[in-house]
Amino acid sequence: MMTQAPDTPQALYRALPSMDSLLAKPSFAQLQQTYGKAAVKAALDGHLHAARTLISQEHRLPNWCSDPAQLHGCLVDQLSRDYCHSLKPVWNLTGTILHTNLGRAQQSEAAIKAVSSVMRYPTPLEFELAAGERGHRDNAISGLIHRLTGAEACCVVNNNAAAVLLMLSAVTAGKEVIVSRGELVEIGGAFRIPDIMRQAGCTLVEVGSTNRTHLKDYEQAITENTAAIMKVHTSNYHISGFTAAVEEAKLGELCRERGIALISDLGSGSLTDLRRFGLKQEPTPQAMLLDGVDLVSFSGDKLLGGPQSGLIVGKQSLINQLQSHPLKRALRCDKLILAALEATLIHYLTPETLDTELPIMAKFARSQDTLRQIGQRLQQALIPLFQPAYGIELQDCQTQVGSGSQPDTFLPSVALCFTALKGGSLSLLEQHFKQAERPVIGRMSNDQLRLDLRGIDNEAELLAELSTLGVQL
Ligand SMILES: *Cc1c(COP(=O)(O)O)cnc(C)c1O
Repeated sequence: MMTQAPDTPQALYRALPSMDSLLAKPSFAQLQQTYGKAAVKAALDGHLHAARTLISQEHRLPNWCSDPAQLHGCLVDQLSRDYCHSLKPVWNLTGTILHTNLGRAQQSEAAIKAVSSVMRYPTPLEFELAAGERGHRDNAISGLIHRLTGAEACCVVNNNAAAVLLMLSAVTAGKEVIVSRGELVEIGGAFRIPDIMRQAGCTLVEVGSTNRTHLKDYEQAITENTAAIMKVHTSNYHISGFTAAVEEAKLGELCRERGIALISDLGSGSLTDLRRFGLKQEPTPQAMLLDGVDLVSFSGDKLLGGPQSGLIVGKQSLINQLQSHPLKRALRCDKLILAALEATLIHYLTPETLDTELPIMAKFARSQDTLRQIGQRLQQALIPLFQPAYGIELQDCQTQVGSGSQPDTFLPSVALCFTALKGGSLSLLEQHFKQAERPVIGRMSNDQLRLDLRGIDNEAELLAELSTLGVQL
């Protein structure tokens, strides 16, 4: 014989509060004010269902039946988690400034303001105020691009990958495009130059070898089916040693003689001289155009320091072809991107303000001495909060540009390095940092959690964040 449970399942089911009685409790009524009745009801439904399962399987009531505050706490956690933003600010102290996984370029205050304003109010996105007639959305930046690069015209799309696809689709579909074997780049993901050419419907004609390509290689490959020669900036790798590539100026001459287009995917395409930061000078769109390149494409959110976008600048007649291609409509940018891009480009009209106004430039511009002083202040304040389980040291380190730009150039920087001592665990510390109000993302290396200080936005705020994390340990 089974022993009789003190309460029969029937009695337990009866003891379970009803949905209506729960919803009527003042604390749950208040949750409905915040999250809406449907969400609260759905969450309660889950708990009541689990309670009925518990009764049928274990012949008991859940603990919250005797302690309604517990159920309320659960619901608050659950609902606030549903409503929290996953795209929230983090600290990028990884040592990579343009971190693709962390959203690449941080925007200037002017860009942020411009974006909020066009979000809030109607804006003449495709309307010429002076003439009172329909305009083109890319006009917002075409005047600026003309002043900054000398380009006759421009076209803006979702990113540089889209820019390359559009250039090839609109200018070379059904025809041949000549590319050096040294420039058949894979950018990452599924973006490889040969694949993108297939997608665009043109035929890739490879010339030269991985390390050396000469003018005569291009010359001999030109046929009546050739639409263009394409140059691809090998931004994410570097070939050194016995190498040769043909300069744009020479190719420009050849293309003009033979009546074909010269197009160039610049990748980062900086508009400013980066040598002042100790970086290498990137080929600029303006220099490419002067060398006779017909169309140049580059990213908006790499070294330009703006929003994700792809810019194509160059000859009016070819830009017209891009603008009237059906893909342009599919790849066009929205007003938020165009507003941020316009604000970013305006900074370039006064280059002397770039290092203070554009966050990525401000980060490049910091000296190692400044970073060391910041590091010493943070170290002194934080050691008492993290000991005895964790030690904190300052070490010299090297910052990378990121996003495939200048893979072999480094800026000297300083890292705050956490090590695990008695009772500490570095992987737990890393987890703890990622669960902060504003998660702190560093880099694990050599049994250290390293925070590259070149990436900080505000010293006082980082100190407050790390202090809280230390106290919570
Ligand atoms: C980064 C890069 C791209 C892709 O640019 P996105 O803006 O990331 O789409 C294309 N070509 C080159 C050479 C690049 O460096």
